[in-house]
Amino acid sequence: MRLRIGWLYARTMNIYGDRGNVLALVERCRRRGIEVEVREIGVGEPLEPGCCDLFFWGGGQDREQIAAAFDLQGAKGEVLRGEIERGVPVLAVCGGYQLLGHFYRPHDGPELPGLGIFDAWTVAGSRRMIGNVVVESHEFGELVGFENHSGRTFLGPTAQPLGVVRIGYGNNGEDRTEGCRYRNAIGTYLHGPLLPKNPQLADFLIACALRLHGWEEPLVPLDDELARLAHAEAVARARAQRRTVVLPLPFKRR
Ligand code: GLN
Repeated sequence: MRLRIGWLYARTMNIYGDRGNVLALVERCRRRGIEVEVREIGVGEPLEPGCCDLFFWGGGQDREQIAAAFDLQGAKGEVLRGEIERGVPVLAVCGGYQLLGHFYRPHDGPELPGLGIFDAWTVAGSRRMIGNVVVESHEFGELVGFENHSGRTFLGPTAQPLGVVRIGYGNNGEDRTEGCRYRNAIGTYLHGPLLPKNPQLADFLIACALRLHGWEEPLVPLDDELARLAHAEAVARARAQRRTVVLPLPFKRR
């Protein structure tokens, strides 16, 4: 089996260790005997239907987001939308996540159009939300990561959050939601990189990509002791930075 990962804006939107997500996906496939081809898809580069089995889109500064936002207006964005609708898995982190919503309004400059995949919108706030994050997701369990964003993302009525923040700010530092889910697309503020410390999420993305090729078998389990230790260390750091907040779930379980 061979998977093709489309790495969107790899050279311009790749901060706070985000490239580690691609490395984790490649490694977790390699250990299962699944070949992986990684295709960098930058500004002005083509995106054809069926070209990739999984997309990754990392975070970036406002100025890099401007180029990406306008690059995805028109046919290229419509292809990405079509891929998501047919079930291609996507992991979009922070700046990438913001541009899969309706719009991102930075501090300065024009409001950036998003693809509207997620029923969500983002407005830059007056403070940066920085620190370790612990999230409770009823689909993926406990997730840990690192956030650094001024954008505050708010979810619309049809949006499903990825989870509830236990420690940290999450989408906006107000409603305790973190991230967003639509079909097999996941948007999140969790840098870190996210996947090496949350292997269940990596395997979800890989399994979705394999299903596109008719592979329904469960993935062969891997020895995730190192991932477990890294996850525990991240949780300990998050707890050390601020007390754990346990709140009732603010949204109905799916
Ligand atoms: N520029 C966006 C913000 O500050 C995204 C930053 C990021 O990708 N970490 O909210």
